[in-house]
Amino acid sequence: MQSLSNARIHFNPQGTPVATDFDDIYFSNDGGLAETDYVFLQQNSLPSRWPRHPQAFFHILETGFGTGANFLLCWQRFRSFRAQYPAAACQRLYFSSFEKYPLSLADLQQALACHTLLQAQCEQLLQAYPPPVAGCHRLVFDHGQVILDLWQGDVNTLLPQLPVQNQVDAIFLDGFAPAKNPDMWQTGLFEQLFRLSNANTTLATFTCAGLVKQGLTAAGFNIKKVKGFGRKREMLTATIAADTASEPIAAKVALHRESQLPAKDDVTIIGGGLAALCSAYALVRRGVKVALLCADAEVAQGASHNRQGALYPNLPVSPSAAGLWHCQAFHYARQFYQDCLQTGITFPMQFCGLLHLATTPQLTERQRKMAEHQSWPTSLVRFVAADEASALAGIPLQHSGIFIPDAGWIAPQAFCQALFHFLTTQPLFTAVFDCPIVDMQASDTGWQLQTPQHQLTAQRLLVATGADLTQLAAMAHLPLNRVRGQVSHVHAATLTPLKTVICHKGYLTPAWQGLHCIGATFDRNAQEAYLSAADDNANIQQLAEQLAMTPLAAEIQLDSAKAAFRGTVPDHLPLAGLVDNSQPTLWVHAGLGARGLLFAPLLAEILACQLTGEPVPAAETTLQHLSPQRFAR
Ligand code: SAM
Repeated sequence: MQSLSNARIHFNPQGTPVATDFDDIYFSNDGGLAETDYVFLQQNSLPSRWPRHPQAFFHILETGFGTGANFLLCWQRFRSFRAQYPAAACQRLYFSSFEKYPLSLADLQQALACHTLLQAQCEQLLQAYPPPVAGCHRLVFDHGQVILDLWQGDVNTLLPQLPVQNQVDAIFLDGFAPAKNPDMWQTGLFEQLFRLSNANTTLATFTCAGLVKQGLTAAGFNIKKVKGFGRKREMLTATIAADTASEPIAAKVALHRESQLPAKDDVTIIGGGLAALCSAYALVRRGVKVALLCADAEVAQGASHNRQGALYPNLPVSPSAAGLWHCQAFHYARQFYQDCLQTGITFPMQFCGLLHLATTPQLTERQRKMAEHQSWPTSLVRFVAADEASALAGIPLQHSGIFIPDAGWIAPQAFCQALFHFLTTQPLFTAVFDCPIVDMQASDTGWQLQTPQHQLTAQRLLVATGADLTQLAAMAHLPLNRVRGQVSHVHAATLTPLKTVICHKGYLTPAWQGLHCIGATFDRNAQEAYLSAADDNANIQQLAEQLAMTPLAAEIQLDSAKAAFRGTVPDHLPLAGLVDNSQPTLWVHAGLGARGLLFAPLLAEILACQLTGEPVPAAETTLQHLSPQRFAR
C-alpha cells in the first residue's frame, strides 16, 4: 500500500509557494485569485451555470489540490450564489480534488496567508485538513453546503477507482506544467476525465501543450483554444458534444439522463442506534424523506447504549486497505461530531487523545515495527515512553505506547438521543417506536413490512438493526456474529486524574460524571444480554493487571454496568450497501462491531450518496470491501 510524503516547497521573493522538486509555482505570483477565477471558473462558465443547474448538487473535479486556492474561491462563490438564489435547485457544491504530494499543515498555513479576503475559510480548511494518509477524505463545510473530497494519492491511480456515479459537471485540469511534471499528464488521465464526464461537462486548463490537446481530443473531448489570462496568449477549454454520434458519447448522454431520474423517493430505516440515526441524518440533510421504525421504546437500546466509547482508528503496522479505511472513517467522524455540536446537537465528548499501551510482548513488538517503518504520519500517531505516557495520561503508567492526539471519547447513547431530538425538528423525518418488523416481502409497490399490529409499505428500505440484522430472512445469509459485551462503570481515586483514553487489551475512559467506563468483555455464546458480576470482576482484574497496578483492583468501586450484543463480521469490516440488485431496493448498514462511533458517520454518508446519486466518498474497491454482496447468498 502506498505511503504519502508531504510536498517539499519553498517561497519565492514574491511570497508565492514553489514546489522545490518541480520548480513550478502553485498559483500566480501576484497572490491574487484573478487568474484562478479567469482560467478555471469563468472558462467553465461559473458561477453563471449554478442558478439554472437542474440538479441538487454541482460537482467539480480538480487535478492537483495544492494549496486549495481554487477550492477556496469556488467555496466563496458558491456561498454568494446560495445567498443570492436561495430558491435555486442547486443546493450543494461537491469539489473532488486529487493530490499526490500534500502540503504539510505548516506549509499550507503559510501558503494561504496571502488570501486575506478568504481568511475565515482558510482557517476552516486548515482545521479540517487531513494528515497525509492515502485515500478519500471528505471535508464538510457550511453544514453540508460545500463538500470537499480530498483524494490523496496519484491522480492516475485514483481516478479509475472513482465510482461511475461520481460524474462531474466541470473539470479544473490543473497541475504543474506538463514539461515539468510529465508523469501526471498521461493518456489514461484524459480517458478517465472523459469517463467521469456527462453530456454537459465542461473542462478548462491553463496549458495549451500539444500532449494535452492531443490527449483530450483522443479521449473524446472537443477542445477550443481561448485567450489566456493577462499577458498569457492562450489556454484550453473542452466540452463533450451531445450531438456527436460516436458510441461512447451517446452512451454518456444516456447515462446522464439516467442520473437525472428523481432519486428522492422516501427511505424507510429499520433500527434506532448509531447506524440508523446517522443514516437518517445524512439523508434528511439531502432532502430525502425518512421514516424510522424502531423495535424498542426509544433510541439507542442496543450496542449504542454505552455511556462512553472511544473514538480512534485501529492502525496496523503498515497502511493496509483496512488501516486506511479506519483513518478515513476517523477523520470524517471527528469532523462530523464537531459539526453536530455546532448545529446544536449537544452531547458529552472530549477529544482528549488516546494512549494505546504496549502491555504485552506482542503489542510491544508491533509498536516497535510501526516506529521502525514510520508508516503513519506523526501528526496522527507517535510513540511515547512510559514517563511521557504518564504525563499525558495524568496517572502513573508503567508501559510505553502509541499516542493518537486527535482521538477521544464520545457518549454514544447521549449522542443518539441528541441526534434523534434534532431529527424530530426536521419536517422530512418521522419515527415510530415499539415497532418490531417480523416479516418483510418484496412487492410491486415496495417492501411490505409486517409488525405485530400493522402492515407498512417502504419504497426503499435500509436495515440498520445492529446485532439483530440476521433475524430478517432477507439478511439471514450474512455472516454476522452476535458477541455479548459488558462495560463496567467504576470509580477509584487513583484513576480520577486520568486525562486521556487508555487502551490495553481493553479500555479505560477518563471520568464523566464521576465514573470511568472499563471494558469490555467478549462472549460469543450468550443468548441474552444479561449483566454478570463475573464480567465486572474480569474487567476490573484485567485493568489492574494490564496497567500493572495490582492494588488498583481492590481500590476500584463498581457503580453499574451495561451489556449488549455487538454485531461483528468475520473480516472485521462493516456491511454497507445494497444487499442485492433486486427491486425494490434493500440496503444495509450494520456489522459495526465495537466500532459504531468510528464507522457510522462515514458509512451513513456513503449510503446517503449512493441512495441519492451524489458523489460517493470512497473508491470502488472500498465499496466492494464494505458491500454485503461480498458474501454471496
Ligand atoms: N490547484 C492548486 C491550488 O489551488 O493551489 C495548484 C495546483 S499546483 C499548480 C499542481 C498540483 O498538482 C500540486 O499540488 C502537485 O503536488 C499536484 N500533483 C502533481 N502530480 C500529481 C499527480 N500525479 N497526482 C496528483 N497530484 C499531482
